[in-house]
Amino acid sequence: MTVTDTPDFSKGCAFVRGQYVPIERASIPITDLGFLHSDATYDVVTVWNGAFFRLDAHLERFRRSCQRWRLDPQLSDHEITTILSQCVRLSGLQSSYVEMLCTRGQTPWGSRDPRQAVNQFYAFAVPYVWIANEQQRVNGLSLRISDIQRIPPDSVDPTIKNYHWSDLTMGLLAALDSGADTVVLVDRQGHVVEGPGFNIFCVREGTILTPESGMLEGVTRRTVIEMAQTLGIKVQIRAVTVQEFSTADEVFVTSSGGGVIAVTFVDEKVIGQGKPGAMTLKLAQTYWAWHEIPAMNVRVND
Ligand SMILES: *Cc1c(COP(=O)(O)O)cnc(C)c1O
Repeated sequence: MTVTDTPDFSKGCAFVRGQYVPIERASIPITDLGFLHSDATYDVVTVWNGAFFRLDAHLERFRRSCQRWRLDPQLSDHEITTILSQCVRLSGLQSSYVEMLCTRGQTPWGSRDPRQAVNQFYAFAVPYVWIANEQQRVNGLSLRISDIQRIPPDSVDPTIKNYHWSDLTMGLLAALDSGADTVVLVDRQGHVVEGPGFNIFCVREGTILTPESGMLEGVTRRTVIEMAQTLGIKVQIRAVTVQEFSTADEVFVTSSGGGVIAVTFVDEKVIGQGKPGAMTLKLAQTYWAWHEIPAMNVRVND
């Protein structure tokens, strides 16, 4: 037994009720409406080689999400940045998945008026999360198009990053059961929209297509659109049909959890030559190159 109980942050560090705690000890009250009603929003920024990638874009989206759902973290962007940095520093991680959350919190006992709840801010830093394993990144993902519809945007606004994931999770379970790696959901009109935690793209005749609405506007999606502009690649942001998607020359998905990741099978049909396409590889390479651009990176220790 040690005399002084020095906390071990090596598996990750969380900020909970004003304190930094090892990730495995981080918890929230069971009565927080963030848990009971999924009444919460969040954002995920990554740290790569000791620097936050596009932190401004993530803070801006988090701020907007909070405002739209009438949640107030009661912290400035500077204060949030300080907390996130401290989580990363304590964990000692050079590459990290950093999540910030704002929950509705608890209402006074017996009240059902959300305006009376005291909103809570939480954060944590854990090792970098890849949405695809190494083999999947090399070979490309096998993806299934679900017949489950994404929750309609008129019901739950998908541009607010949220925990209403039952549609995505049910789709993912069915896809995994069928032997695929992941899933893409459709909207009411039958257009492909997004998957569990990622945006979708396809390439047809040298032009990149990506849905315009019905999904979260991913920071990685935005990065791909900007990279395409600098590389002189045409982009069309518009509704994409299942047919266009599944017969495309190239398909890829984007997420802060790994950047640009190739898809080589859609509904068991091979895409292109059955290996990551040239445009996908170029964008993936540029994504990592942009992690060296000073204007897009904020060092954790600054
Ligand atoms: C987080 C997320 C994405 C990807 O957004 P990034 O900012 O690129 O990480 C896409 N769709 C959903 C549903 C998400 O939660």
